[in-house]
Amino acid sequence: MERLRIYTYRKTKMIGYLFILALLFLCFRVGYLMIFRASHYAPRAVEVEQRERDIKAARGRIIDRNGTILASNKTVCTISVIHSQIEDEDAVIDCLSKELESDRGEIAKKVTKVSSIEKIKSNVSKEVGDRIRSYELAGVKVDDDYKRYYPYDSLQSKVLGFTGGDNQGIIGLESRYDSYLQGQDGKILTFTDAKGIEIKELGEVRMEPEAGDDLYVSLDYNICEYATQLAYQTMLNHQASAVEMIVMNPQNGEIYAMVNVPEFSLSDPFTLPQEYESLSEEEKSEKRNEMWRNTCISDTYEPGSTFKIITTAAALEADVVSLDEQFHCNGSITVEDTRIRCHKTTGHGSEDFTHAIMNSCNPVFIQLGLRLGAERFFDYFEQFQMLGKTGVDLPGEAGTIMHKLENVGPVELATISFGQSFQLTPIQMATTVSSLINGGTRITPHIAVETRNRMGEKVHTFSYEDQGRTVSEETSETLRYLLYQVVAEGTGKNGQVEGYSVGGKTATSQMLPRGSGKYIASFIGFAPAEDPQVLAIVIIHEPQGIYYGGTIAAPVVSQLFENILPYLGIEQQK
Ligand SMILES: [Zn+2]
Repeated sequence: MERLRIYTYRKTKMIGYLFILALLFLCFRVGYLMIFRASHYAPRAVEVEQRERDIKAARGRIIDRNGTILASNKTVCTISVIHSQIEDEDAVIDCLSKELESDRGEIAKKVTKVSSIEKIKSNVSKEVGDRIRSYELAGVKVDDDYKRYYPYDSLQSKVLGFTGGDNQGIIGLESRYDSYLQGQDGKILTFTDAKGIEIKELGEVRMEPEAGDDLYVSLDYNICEYATQLAYQTMLNHQASAVEMIVMNPQNGEIYAMVNVPEFSLSDPFTLPQEYESLSEEEKSEKRNEMWRNTCISDTYEPGSTFKIITTAAALEADVVSLDEQFHCNGSITVEDTRIRCHKTTGHGSEDFTHAIMNSCNPVFIQLGLRLGAERFFDYFEQFQMLGKTGVDLPGEAGTIMHKLENVGPVELATISFGQSFQLTPIQMATTVSSLINGGTRITPHIAVETRNRMGEKVHTFSYEDQGRTVSEETSETLRYLLYQVVAEGTGKNGQVEGYSVGGKTATSQMLPRGSGKYIASFIGFAPAEDPQVLAIVIIHEPQGIYYGGTIAAPVVSQLFENILPYLGIEQQK
């Protein structure tokens, strides 16, 4: 990053020097013309003025792992007029109002205005621009310009982001990697006399624009497309308010897809749905920010039972439980006079620890939390690095909202143990579980891989170092086995995929305030269970009707895996 900046800075400086040199040369020439050819120019000019026009740089493209272009540029034109050069005002007004299909009066106002250069319209299509050029009208300038273009419109909208009128990235990757993508605008410098008439003898100085570098990302167009369809289908099936999905490589943190439905149109990012038409400008602006919000990284939720993966990891590391230890669940447990129920109110009866996680039995996890104690439990949260941010390379990431250690009494400890009373982001959940089941290495989730220039030469490679150990290899292996059992025969059965071994955990959590009757159903799964190559989390907000994660979220991951495992070249195992 630092090196690249210096490089760009030097380059900019060099171009600057060349520019000054060219200017000096022109000054001499102007001097020469004025002194030695004064008789020729005297009647026309005493002063020379410069006039500048920008030549827009092409913004770097965003390209997926297989070479599919996710963000590109379309050539458009900017039409301007230079008042002093116009010879036939009526012809100019006729031509522009006709070709631009604009109001004649409006055009006339701009054309007749005495200014050095007046912009008539930008973002004009290339065809229209070329047609206006063909009139060859004096004083009409048609400059090529670029408009950002997203071939798949709303696909990965909240991840890619979009650009504003000034070619500046506003959200997502467009904003995060703006300095790499932007490039350097060029300039056309022309000289005019006091009346604004171009002095053709002086010619023009062109400082050529420099295209931005292409950003190569870990996203996979096919996985994005399929996951998005699946998310929309899920939203429709359960009349949910939103569905989030993250698909990533748990070994190195590469994100294949990050879906937030409803997505929005990148070619028209400022237009709100019809129903918000009557809102005030301020409210509209708020709605736009809501529409653009990447909730996978910016919003926190109460994880519920998927968090039992983390409690289990801590308990195994601390050696406070073994897989065959016997427990008994009678439907609830009392912690300091507070009775906390199991989701199965009639109780799970006798069960060993393996079956307790397969059953997602709350009282057993509460006991693990109490055995660990708040201090040690929190030490593991630190070790797993799940209390801060993941460092994902997108703007706007939120951190985990956890109790302060000194405020954690036995009841708080009990609720944390089964995933209640605190919140984290979907990306934090996916990253932490990845880092526990991948052999025990904390990874940095990310999207950017490298930048290349227009010739396809590598300019910069982004590196994401491992963030240290979360759990031992042995604990990681035990976790994979337990989570495989959850899907093979436990509450995660609907996450199974024919021919593949899948590990995972379900969750059903209440939305706050509790008792509002609103739920969040989720499932986090990975495959193959013994050697995880892909991990997916799906979170369904406010499903109507059945709201259990095992019933409605697990099948979504199953369907996703059924399609993407063969696609990723992962062979069937059984
Ligand atoms: Zn139970």
